Order: sequence, then C-alpha cells, then structure tokens
Amino acid sequence: MILDGKAVSATVKDALRERMPELEAKYGRRPCLCVIIVGQNPASQVYVRNKVRAAQYVGMESRLIELPEQTGEAELLALIAELNADESVDGLLVQLPLPRHIDEEKVIEAITVEKDVDGFHILNVGSLQVGRPCSVPCTPKGILRLIDSTGVPIEGKTAVVVGRSNIVGKPVAKLLLDRNATVIMAHSRTRDLKSFTLQADILVVAVGKENVVTGDMVKPGAIVIDVGVNRRADGSLAGDVDFESAAQVAGWITPVPGGVGPMTIAMLMENTVDCFLAARLSA
Ligand code: NDP
Repeated sequence: MILDGKAVSATVKDALRERMPELEAKYGRRPCLCVIIVGQNPASQVYVRNKVRAAQYVGMESRLIELPEQTGEAELLALIAELNADESVDGLLVQLPLPRHIDEEKVIEAITVEKDVDGFHILNVGSLQVGRPCSVPCTPKGILRLIDSTGVPIEGKTAVVVGRSNIVGKPVAKLLLDRNATVIMAHSRTRDLKSFTLQADILVVAVGKENVVTGDMVKPGAIVIDVGVNRRADGSLAGDVDFESAAQVAGWITPVPGGVGPMTIAMLMENTVDCFLAARLSA
C-alpha cells in the first residue's frame, strides 16, 4: 500500500487550520513563522515557497525574508538577533544550505532555542537525546507520523535506518528507539547492507543516492520510508529506493515525491504552533 504523505499531511494541516481562530481569540494573534533565505539556490527557493504557502494555508502569519547571496555572516546574525527579540515572531528558520562564506553552525546556534522550529539547535538536539521536551526536527517527526498512520505498532519491531545525518538518520533512529523499536543504523561503511535491510520491519532510507535499496533488499510486508530526494538528468525526482521493485515486496511504501516531503512541511507548521503555545504557557 502507498503511504500517502500528501493525504496525511493534509489532515495535519487541516487540524491546525481549524485551531487558528481559537488561538487568535485566546491569545490575541495567530502564530507567526519567519523564514530567511540567503541566495538563489533553486531547490531552497522551492522549499521556502512551499513553507510559506503551507503557513498561509493553515492561516498563520508568515514572513519571508530574502537576502542576497553576498549577505555577510555578521549581517545575518544581527538579523537573527533582532528576530529572536521580536515578540511577534514565534518560529524562526534559516533555510539551509547557506552560501559557503557563512558558518551554518553559528547561524543555527544563533536562533533562540524557543523559536527553533527546525529543531537543529544544539539544546534541542541534546534534549531529544535525553528525552526532554523539545522541538523535534520536522523530517524525522513526519516520518514517525507516517509510520503511525499505518496503524502498525512500532514497539518490538526491528527498524533499520540507512543514513546517519544529524537532520534525518540520527534523530529518526532516536525517535524509533523511544518507541521501543530495535534499531539498526547503517551508513556508507556498512558491509553487506542487504543483510541488515532484510531484517527490517520498518526501513527508513535517508542517503541521497538513487537505488541504494532495491526490492530484493526489502523484507516482505515491511514499512518502507524513502526520504531521499534525487534529481535525475531529465529533471524528474526520484527517491533512494527503487520504487517499482520495492513496492512488489513492501507492505507499505512512500512515493517520492508525495511521501516524506509534505510531512516535513506539515510538522514545521505544528512546531510553530507548539513554539507559540510554549511561549505563552511559560509567560
Ligand atoms: P547526508 O548526505 O547528510 O547523509 C547521507 C547519509 O547516507 C550518510 O550518513 C552516509 O553515510 C549515508 N550513505 C551514503 N552512501 C551510502 C550507501 N551507499 N549506503 C548506505 N549509506 C550511505 O544526507 P541527509 O540525511 O541530509 O539527506 C538524505 C536524503 O534525504 C537526501 O536525498 C536529502 O535530499 C533527503 N532529504 C529529504 C527531506 C524531505 O523533507 N523529504 C529532508 C531532508 C533530507 P556516512 O555517514 O558514512 O557518510
């Protein structure tokens, strides 16, 4: 069966949209997401447009700040400091990647943890590891939500996560562990990847290379989550998993596009509302 990220994300966004009037009545205004983009990276331009469009759909306030490629690091950090202090902004994100002359780590750490809707700040990363309340990164959070939408319990399952990045692989493995899956992490130095993927009741693939996983590597009935987004020479998008062959074997599988991508954006909306509420509850 196809795990339809568009449909599940629409449910999440519609639920948020319904809550907006109530939030506005209670707190005097709606949550506000601020997105900063530096430069003209075409993929980033599409991502930020989708984020702002989603915010508009759910009825939040949104601000898009577009800065030129040559923006200096100090200038960007000063803008972040200003937005950190701006009480009308609840969620703040800087679209990555940044131009090479700007230190991404510095920028991520500059965003106040209370407004870090991406969940990339070191304090949010640490809180996730030790099980404290935090902004959970959007893609891993969306992946768990997609798995939950199957109704299959995660507890006791063997989950294999291919890829160990800080933004996808590691946090998704931690979230699966928190849900009592037995988690195996694979990466570029893993020997005999297939011997591991064949054990996976839940297989999450976040590598960024087409056909890293093919149907013969999938356990019959498995839930297969394909995070990869690879642009082919003809301009079309493909995941990391060979959809045709894997779909013959899997119980559930996400398409690319239309799987994890829309969930990431829906979780960003949720995280923004959560930051808005947390600020009001702690006030
Ligand atoms: P990274 O490049 O940061 O990490 C890739 C990981 O894959 C690394 O851990 C690497 O191992 C591992 N890897 C590389 N080659 C192999 C291989 N042959 N076999 C097994 N593992 C391998 O990527 P990200 O995690 O940032 O992103 C992964 C993919 O997901 C990309 O296509 C990205 O575009 C997509 N993505 C999609 C999102 C969405 O919303 N749909 C959001 C975020 C990412 P090692 O650590 O050893 O180098």
